[in-house]
Amino acid sequence: MTADLPDVFEGRHFIDGKWRDGRETFERVSPSHAVVVSRSAKGGVAEAEAAIEAARRAFDSGVWSRASGKDRATILLKVAELIEADVDRIALQETLESGKPITQARGEVSGAADLWRYAASLARSTHGDSHNTLGDDMLGVVLKEPIGVVSIITPWNFPFWILSQKLPFALAAGCTVVVKPSEVTPSSTVMMGELLEQAGLPAGVCNIVLGFGDPVGSLMSTHDAVDMVTFTGSTAVGKAITKASAGTLKKVALELGGKNAQVIFPDANLDDAADAVVFGAYFNVGQCCNSSSRLIVHADIAQDFVARVVALSRDVVFGDPLNPDTQVGAIVTPEHNSKIDGHVRDAVAAGAKIELGGGYLDVPGLGRQFYQPTVVSGVTPDMEIAGHEVFGPVLSVLEFNTLDEAVTLTNGTSYGLSAGVWSENVHTCLAFARRAEAGTVWTNTWMDGFPELAFGGVKQSGQGREIGRYGFDEFLEVKSVVMRVGRTRPSWVRSRVA
Ligand code: NAD
Repeated sequence: MTADLPDVFEGRHFIDGKWRDGRETFERVSPSHAVVVSRSAKGGVAEAEAAIEAARRAFDSGVWSRASGKDRATILLKVAELIEADVDRIALQETLESGKPITQARGEVSGAADLWRYAASLARSTHGDSHNTLGDDMLGVVLKEPIGVVSIITPWNFPFWILSQKLPFALAAGCTVVVKPSEVTPSSTVMMGELLEQAGLPAGVCNIVLGFGDPVGSLMSTHDAVDMVTFTGSTAVGKAITKASAGTLKKVALELGGKNAQVIFPDANLDDAADAVVFGAYFNVGQCCNSSSRLIVHADIAQDFVARVVALSRDVVFGDPLNPDTQVGAIVTPEHNSKIDGHVRDAVAAGAKIELGGGYLDVPGLGRQFYQPTVVSGVTPDMEIAGHEVFGPVLSVLEFNTLDEAVTLTNGTSYGLSAGVWSENVHTCLAFARRAEAGTVWTNTWMDGFPELAFGGVKQSGQGREIGRYGFDEFLEVKSVVMRVGRTRPSWVRSRVA
């Protein structure tokens, strides 16, 4: 056990500009270090209602929704600065709650600052359209306006990063928000609340309620005063939110699961491809919607390529998340660890072969809430592991012979988040990119992302987009203003009588 862990973080709700204790609390035990690392106020219906009503009042007051883009951008830029000044504290708490490596957590928190900066640029540059071609006496103006009160519900795998994929964009648009982080990783969202307060965000514009899906997340999805829900998490909960929100016809944006494939053609740079496959399988211990949990490799090179992947996998540093050299940390909960193992057992029972790993990993001094890097070959499309999101460090290997087969295998799941192709032939890459059913396609790389480029999924990976200009537009309504100018309007009544 590491001796110098920080004090237990005490998380409170942030409602209408005030910090509120809870009548009850809940604790988070670090998945890697098995000690309590945070104690959070547990929200109920009363806190969720208070937060939603505060967001509604703040929106309707115009204090933020009618503020200039310049004023909004000034605050967002200040938040970016404050995040950068606080990277170490936020990243340490994120690591202790999630089990992710400290170096990765620092990268995510400082990277999040850039999302705030990019959103600030959108706050100033967004605009609608004008239509000057409707006739001499007509002018049309299309305004973009904030959609209203937005519920933001986030998961545990990238708590600060995913919050920053949503919150600055909603704020840049002029929306007010209620945020509920995952009950497993609440603290970095509370820290974000502290930074927003320091940056001078007006009271009620961003409200944070800590707690569980039931009742907090449910109320945020059904309350009359909420105009939109943006959710990242499991496909099952995404469907539940869609159903729950139907009663008030809110807009719902969903970022859900994935079963993403990297497809390797024989003419690819196989060293680069193998490294990317290993990165895609183990990054964030596979608990990543963008994990490339399927390797679809050409039969001619399959044996050699899998051997490369297995050899490289042995060199990845799994272990104590607080060690700066660690690349892969702990599994989020013991229950999730058993689920991962269950998927691997089922694959073996169905006839797949374990090439590497396939069991729990004991990290000296930290216990076994870790899972070994695992490669499973001989996977066929009918096996459960070929289509189910394992959400662990488990790579399934399938083989193909033609581009058509590669595309069919890639698209053969209910998900459609991302896909990748490796070939030195640009025609192969483009043919694949155009036929892959996915929100993002990478060619000769994996998981590079930029604030400018929209992110999201098709099929059961979600609806709507995040980040980029398209992601920003999700938080805007379009209003057409139709103006008669100059000549008077022809009379509807008199022209009929005549
Ligand atoms: P989860 O769906 O269990 O929980 C996500 C959030 O929803 C939590 O804050 C939870 O408290 C809340 N919630 C639970 N029930 C709810 C309800 N009925 N109404 C409203 N809110 C409710 O997901 P998780 O286990 O935290 O995260 C893992 C999942 O997230 C994986 O399936 C993964 O693929 C997905 N994910 C997707 C993306 C993406 O961008 N596509 C990114 C990260 C994670």
